[in-house]
Amino acid sequence: MSKDRARSDLVAAYRRMTAAGLGTGSSGNLSLRTVEGMLITPTGVAPAILEAPQVVAMSLAGQAGEGQLLPSSEWHIHTAIYRARPDINAVVHCHSRHATILACAHRPIPAVHYMIAIAGVDEIPVAPYATFGTEALAGSVAGTLGRGRALLLANHGQIALGVSLDQALAVAVEVEELAAIYWGSLAIGGGKVLSKEAMMEVRTAFADYGQQHDKDTKDNG
Ligand SMILES: [Zn+2]
Repeated sequence: MSKDRARSDLVAAYRRMTAAGLGTGSSGNLSLRTVEGMLITPTGVAPAILEAPQVVAMSLAGQAGEGQLLPSSEWHIHTAIYRARPDINAVVHCHSRHATILACAHRPIPAVHYMIAIAGVDEIPVAPYATFGTEALAGSVAGTLGRGRALLLANHGQIALGVSLDQALAVAVEVEELAAIYWGSLAIGGGKVLSKEAMMEVRTAFADYGQQHDKDTKDNG
């Protein structure tokens, strides 16, 4: 992928995140892994007015070239995730409402709905609280992440990961939906959590579906 294409993909994903109702104001940030490190949304520029050249390029050691806008204040989280997870190429962070409600209550999301499989785990964990924008918060995220593709940040919001921006966004949308469903189920006495066996079957079905989808794509040229 060309650098220009990666920048415009990131801007488009930022706008899609907002259009999906996951962002409020200029809260939320996204990044995409590159050969040199990562591209990340700058701080304080609303998605509607962000332009591709304003996207910030950084190394995974946290160095940004001169003459750029300031990166998102949460850049520590993004670099920490790319260092810890070579399988991940895109990170979405937002304060979507229901995920944030559960994060404020320090409630992990259990497998009350089978779609939690999209997050690659049977329970979406909550990373312990630390002040926004700090290395301590990035450490909390890295320590909680495991092999999953989603987590809640205590008293703050959610993080979603993917092999691509499309996948990370899809995970973020699903986490918000799962959070809303779990939150609603708590209001009527609590949802019934699916068994490990039931979730194993879902993951197998998802894997088969993915292979089928790849095959179809190839078959269609
Ligand atoms: Zn945040």
